[in-house]
Amino acid sequence: MNKKEAIPGKLTIIPRDQHNISRKSISKSALKVLYRLTSSGYRACLVGGGVRDLLLKKQPKDFDIATDGTPEQVRALFKNSRIIGRRFRLVHIRFGREIIEVATFRSHYADSPRTELSSQGRILRDNTFGDIADDALRRDFTANALYYDIENYSILDYTNGLADLESRSLRLIGEASTRYQEDPVRMLRAVRFAAKLDFEIEQETSRAIFECGYLLRDIPAARLFEETIKLFHSGKATRVFELLRHYDLLQYLFPALDELLRKEPVEAMLDFIDQALVNTDARVNSDQHVSPAFIFAVLLWPAVHQRAAALQSDQLKSIPALTQAGSEVMSRQLKHIAIPRRFSQMARDIWIAQPKFERTKGKQTMRLIAHPWFRAAYDFMCIQSMVGLVPAKLCRWWTDFQQSHPVHEKQHNPREPRRNRPARKRQTN
Ligand code: ATP
Ligand code: MG
Repeated sequence: MNKKEAIPGKLTIIPRDQHNISRKSISKSALKVLYRLTSSGYRACLVGGGVRDLLLKKQPKDFDIATDGTPEQVRALFKNSRIIGRRFRLVHIRFGREIIEVATFRSHYADSPRTELSSQGRILRDNTFGDIADDALRRDFTANALYYDIENYSILDYTNGLADLESRSLRLIGEASTRYQEDPVRMLRAVRFAAKLDFEIEQETSRAIFECGYLLRDIPAARLFEETIKLFHSGKATRVFELLRHYDLLQYLFPALDELLRKEPVEAMLDFIDQALVNTDARVNSDQHVSPAFIFAVLLWPAVHQRAAALQSDQLKSIPALTQAGSEVMSRQLKHIAIPRRFSQMARDIWIAQPKFERTKGKQTMRLIAHPWFRAAYDFMCIQSMVGLVPAKLCRWWTDFQQSHPVHEKQHNPREPRRNRPARKRQTN
């Protein structure tokens, strides 16, 4: 089908024998929810990343479901469920570690007198329900608006999403700048999906980012924390970083880093960030845990390093200089991204540990490896050594030292999750 002729909202149905999604690749919990909804008389479809990733033959991160049942009606069907969100009410149904998110079909805000908008057109609250065709049009990208109908296993395409998926194009539904005004976080989602899926951002969807970037200033710092973690833990953090710089969006997430890179892009620091992101990607892609603290320690390091150097030339010793620089840089950062305290504290510990690695004699060495943040600080130091910011022999020394002094088994690895609790799925819209 010619894309230009596609009529938004016009439905194309792809029957079961013409697509590759089989029920075997859908989680049992998601199937259970789909079947219970339909047997109770509701319409239910898989939608979003689950459908998109299965069509791309990738393993979905999670499964989202859309239904015509209201949140209260869905809640009543599942004991293990709760209604979350104010801006956008959803039902979370928990099955052990897995959470299935169920959203009620909504209509696009223009048709909804009850939608609340900010003075800049940002959607503050949207709980006006609609039918499935309305629901498709209020989603962000065409690739995210495909439905897998559990009734007859067909795919429902209201936005020409399948053609975009085939040509690996990320396209906003509707007029791009209006859609970014409604929710500026869609610009960060565009970057994340383009990087993660290796899609090209369609021309208008791309152009409007340059025009609308400044709208990210109004996004609550807590939401930016969630999105920043999704960006840098996507398994494609190096590409994400490139795209954030390309679209000039880094300033809204990491203003100190952005300023520094604009003034005097220190090659070694850029190499350091790149190498740290390569390592993070490798860990994510091999299912190893990564801590948000590490990402913040890395991305704020150029500013901390520079400020500490200035303080040191004012006669402060290295550790007090790093302590003060770390506090200054972190308190400015917290105005933009609400980094929970446990992560901001660990980022500071990682920075302050750096000069301590220079001492390879005496009792401090044993004390250092006993710290809960040692692994992360050591990784950080070795990455610095890889790009010439620290002598290579230091990384080698500490690597050997750990081998000859095995760390106590019970020591908490700081890059592992603290507790073995089920991964919490946040409200996504
Ligand atoms: P993944 O879960 O792999 O990160 P996803 O596409 O499933 O990707 P979610 O954040 O889980 O993303 O959201 C599920 C679906 O909800 C999306 O695919 C999209 O259709 C819709 N959605 C989420 N956030 C927005 C938004 N800000 N604006 C419009 N639609 C959204
Ligand atoms: Mg999802």
